[in-house]
Amino acid sequence: MIYIDNRFNVTDKNIKTVSFGKIKKTAEVSVPLKSLSEPGDIENLKFKNHIKFVYNHICNQINLNEQIRPKLEFTTMGVGAAGGFDNLEGKIFFDDKFLKQLSDKTIVFAIRHELQHVKQFHNMVSMLGIKKFVKLMACKDENCSENKSLNFEKINIEYYRKVERVLGKINKDSPEGVLTQKYIDAYKKYPDLIKLWQRTDICMVKKICILAKELICNYKFNFLEVDANKAAKIFLKTFKTV
Ligand SMILES: [Zn+2]
Repeated sequence: MIYIDNRFNVTDKNIKTVSFGKIKKTAEVSVPLKSLSEPGDIENLKFKNHIKFVYNHICNQINLNEQIRPKLEFTTMGVGAAGGFDNLEGKIFFDDKFLKQLSDKTIVFAIRHELQHVKQFHNMVSMLGIKKFVKLMACKDENCSENKSLNFEKINIEYYRKVERVLGKINKDSPEGVLTQKYIDAYKKYPDLIKLWQRTDICMVKKICILAKELICNYKFNFLEVDANKAAKIFLKTFKTV
């Protein structure tokens, strides 16, 4: 799987912070007069604008209401990841340097894949209602309390309230409701790989074994991923180049 969603990936946020720091340092110390007129910068800007254009085009094709379209951001994610949907903040991000190496078709696949994750979380809030949805996002584990959850502060409640308002209620007995319940169950099983990696109570060999098992059983074949890949595959068949 090429596309790694960093919905639980704390280290990606660290990478982002480090990169911004470096850029600032460079600008202040060594190249204070660096402007946007350099050819590489213009090319970069053009590429990002192209991605934004394709993103909006795909959103229109799948009828994703403009009011609840997640903000698209560019960031450096590190090795082997094209982008992700931050389900807490309700934002989509892509690594433009990574995307540049991909074919147009693969980029469309990656965008559509992430947009399916958006749809999954939109469905969850529409069916659960904002209160239960926030509880689910804050702590998948029934025993954890919202107050102690680090995720709780990061949830963009305003965004999800808007989603709930715009999309209306999903009945749990309807076909869409049944599908949404599958999303919820899969979300509960979605592995927190970073947390696992940071564990100090088990030896490295055991950690690697658990990690490999989690990656194969609970990430690659997690219904949220399978569903997103399926949606992207179907979409590509009918997609006309823009
Ligand atoms: Zn995914």
